[in-house]
Amino acid sequence: MKIDILSLFPEMFTSPFNESIIKRAREKGLLEINLINVRDFAPGKHQQADDYPFGGGAGMVMKADVVVPALENCKDTDSWVIYLSPQGRPLSQAKVAELGRKSHLVLLCGHYEGIDHRVFDMFDEEISIGDYVLTGGELPAMVLVDAVSRMIPGVLGDEESAIEESFTHNLLEYPHYTRPRVFREKEVPEVLISGHHEKIRLWRKKQSLLMTLLKRPELLLNREYDSEEKQLLLEILFNREP
Ligand code: SAM
Repeated sequence: MKIDILSLFPEMFTSPFNESIIKRAREKGLLEINLINVRDFAPGKHQQADDYPFGGGAGMVMKADVVVPALENCKDTDSWVIYLSPQGRPLSQAKVAELGRKSHLVLLCGHYEGIDHRVFDMFDEEISIGDYVLTGGELPAMVLVDAVSRMIPGVLGDEESAIEESFTHNLLEYPHYTRPRVFREKEVPEVLISGHHEKIRLWRKKQSLLMTLLKRPELLLNREYDSEEKQLLLEILFNREP
């Protein structure tokens, strides 16, 4: 997958994309990330990329005659252009999975008050990372790139599978434990050291339902249940063991 990121502050991205899993994905050639400075498309000696808003008011607005050429420079027939914006649809795991199937993402990071509205018909969509306002789209772009990269086949090793993770099938993930077996008198659940794969699978499924019920019960309303899950839910709700 190729991801072009357009920003007035491309240096912000160097460290996060040069560490851990993203670094490995880039080295393996699974992910190409290009950082493009929007200011490079600003005409004139001063390369002015923002200006005062028409009608007055606080803050500066990123200029259409700078942002549009920057977008045109990287847009191709297979590109999917995203403007990171607090006014966009909130990012979800389902959206992350959908974006993971694209071949070329173009991410535009706004700054200051945002971007001249005449640029907006160039976007395929606007995405928000939550109902709060940040100073710029750089951190949201990092969040999106991190989440989407994990969907690209080969980016996660076998031991880092994304299949059972939180939000897949509208469930949160089950709890994890590692060595030592006893830590400050807290023991790892017996079943996890039983070596009994079927019991472990059922325990994890039940814990996953329980975690969701306790932490994000609204997710449970938006899913279908198979008979095994119905049984496990009954056990949780009425403490009924099989
Ligand atoms: N004036 C804008 C408004 O009220 O909708 C907010 C502009 S914000 C200060 C500057 C830039 O940060 C935006 O153009 C956008 O790119 C980015 N941004 C801020 N909050 C965001 C969020 N929650 N999700 C995605 N991008 C965000």
